Amino acid sequence: MTHERTDFIAGMEPSAPDAPVRVDAMSEAPSAVRDVTPLGRPSVELQSVSAAYGQRLALDDVSLAVRPGSLLAVIGPNGAGKSTLLKLVAGLIKPVSGRISVLGDRPLGHAHEVAYLPQAEAVDWDFPVTVSEVVTMGRYGRLGLGRQPGPGDREIAARALATVGMADAEGVQIGALSGGQRRRVFLARALAAEPLIYLLDEPVTGVDARTQEDLMDVLEAEARAGKTVIASTHDLICAAQRFHEAAFLNRRLVAHGPANLVLDRQLLADTYGGHVLVLPDDGGRLILDDAHHHDDAPRGERHYHDDRR
Ligand code: ADP
Ligand code: MG
Repeated sequence: MTHERTDFIAGMEPSAPDAPVRVDAMSEAPSAVRDVTPLGRPSVELQSVSAAYGQRLALDDVSLAVRPGSLLAVIGPNGAGKSTLLKLVAGLIKPVSGRISVLGDRPLGHAHEVAYLPQAEAVDWDFPVTVSEVVTMGRYGRLGLGRQPGPGDREIAARALATVGMADAEGVQIGALSGGQRRRVFLARALAAEPLIYLLDEPVTGVDARTQEDLMDVLEAEARAGKTVIASTHDLICAAQRFHEAAFLNRRLVAHGPANLVLDRQLLADTYGGHVLVLPDDGGRLILDDAHHHDDAPRGERHYHDDRR
């Protein structure tokens, strides 16, 4: 990841893999990468994790375990710490306390098995790079240091582009793409990495309904194939209908359970501080008044168990 050309994506300069990480590795020694998470064991685990920017606490004592095959929505108001949580798991920032385990190891321990998709705002869309170059970058983590992508890598990148319905856009500059096309291309970049874990920051924000359905179809297929998908979203209907689980975040973890809990008004009120307007039409449409960050996140998280899977 260190030689990857990601200077057009803010916050994508992870510390060198051998830099000291203030996170204890989990006690289990990692075995061969592809089976570090035997069935039933979490692929991603946070234990009492807190994170801060200077004096400002962004995450407070969050514990969360996610298993292979999960499609987890991280929801919460602006400033809730959703992006922070994803960056912590990606190893891009370090917690001030607590333990983070990714595939039984510290974050970045298996960096090439993890694909991180930043929020769209973090990307410099004027950067002169083509769609196929962006997607091929997804391969860099799997290449040895200094190795250039070969025909096999380009083939995987092309397949990933086809999967997201962007096969015709290979030579297009990323700046020329629509919002939905940009999200498709960045998801293709993540797919090209052939990761075990997807960390996606608002992958379906600002995209049209068709793109949202298409991208969710792709993510669902990845989860079905045993991958772990963690995605932040502001779209509660999408979270309820297309994800398996939801984590309700407002600096603290308010709740974690099956995705249909997203339709629980009390939980939403607890998470969004009452700034959720529910319009009672038959679609159960949810409108968020998400303009304010609430510093009074309720204490005491709730964990709900989903025995369906
Ligand atoms: P979300 O993604 O849920 O909107 P973030 O994780 O981006 O929330 O932010 C959580 C809190 O941390 C917010 O109060 C935000 O202002 C603060 N924060 C995020 N990134 C930085 C940063 N680079 N420097 C200082 N504060 C930050
Ligand atoms: Mg965010």
